[in-house]
Amino acid sequence: MKNSATRDALLRRLSQLARRALFGTLSETYRTCGRPGCRCQQGQKHGPHLYVSFRGPSGTTTGYYVPQALAEAMRGGVAVWQELQALLRELAEVNRERLWASRVSRSQRQKTPRRKHGSSPTRPEEHL
Ligand SMILES: [Zn+2]
Repeated sequence: MKNSATRDALLRRLSQLARRALFGTLSETYRTCGRPGCRCQQGQKHGPHLYVSFRGPSGTTTGYYVPQALAEAMRGGVAVWQELQALLRELAEVNRERLWASRVSRSQRQKTPRRKHGSSPTRPEEHL
């Protein structure tokens, strides 16, 4: 059962990665502050600041700034999201193969008792 082992491994990996998943589109922005005489007002803007944008429930794009100390973890979490997408596609393909296989074995189980009763009038050609 190669598929079963593959599926278990995928599910384990998905479960591990899901704990670290973060969602959004990352971008870096440079900002000016309100402090009088700050260098940012002469063009040396503050940054880069990591910004995360995403489509909210209402369909409008929203987002937030990530504290500097969390920027690396945020990038890691979004990379994990991408990896999860790829793994889910793989799992979906394994699930489809299982579904196909279960369908075949079910129809084979149904055929078995009919073969024992060879005179069963289920096929038109057996009537003739
Ligand atoms: Zn400033």
